[in-house]
Amino acid sequence: MLHETVDGQIQERLDWVLRRQRGIPNNRRLFVLACMDERLPVEEALGITTGDAHIFRNAGGLVTDDVIRSAMLTTNFFGTEEIVIINHTECGMMSARTETLVKALSDKVGNLAAVALDPALPELKLTDANAFGRWIKMFDDVDQISESQVAFLRDHPLIPSHIKISSYIYEVESGRLRRPYERLSDHVNDMRTMVEHPYRG
Ligand SMILES: [Zn+2]
Repeated sequence: MLHETVDGQIQERLDWVLRRQRGIPNNRRLFVLACMDERLPVEEALGITTGDAHIFRNAGGLVTDDVIRSAMLTTNFFGTEEIVIINHTECGMMSARTETLVKALSDKVGNLAAVALDPALPELKLTDANAFGRWIKMFDDVDQISESQVAFLRDHPLIPSHIKISSYIYEVESGRLRRPYERLSDHVNDMRTMVEHPYRG
């Protein structure tokens, strides 16, 4: 009967709209942290689509207080079981020295320690320009940052200990993901090191 098909479609739509209210997790029970870089096709690289994951993107794909906030919510209350971090080669966060950026910004705005960082937390201020530099979070080694972020989240009290956490490096030059410290150029004849669409299959 046609009405059954239509009723089914309406029910599906309602479940989609009311997912959070009904405690329906995202399809892959997945939280992704990735760099905001326009060359990083997060969904394509992971083989996922709309509905599959909560995706958080920022400069560098770096763990910040808001990443902790979002990961805490999705893993404790929205049914997420896995966290994947994607950093990438040729990231803008490796392209300048912290001191250069801090100098350029202080020349523009003056006292960096006084700037507001969170509309809900006016008391959240950085103590000095040095702290401001660390807040920007420039880094040199994408493999090292990728691994250390996994370790940090694994030990974090707000992320439940059963959550599976991993990280990958997206190589802009090859358009592929790889694991930290497993450069394809080191294993050109061993294609097992290539991680292609880990969520497909
Ligand atoms: Zn980047």
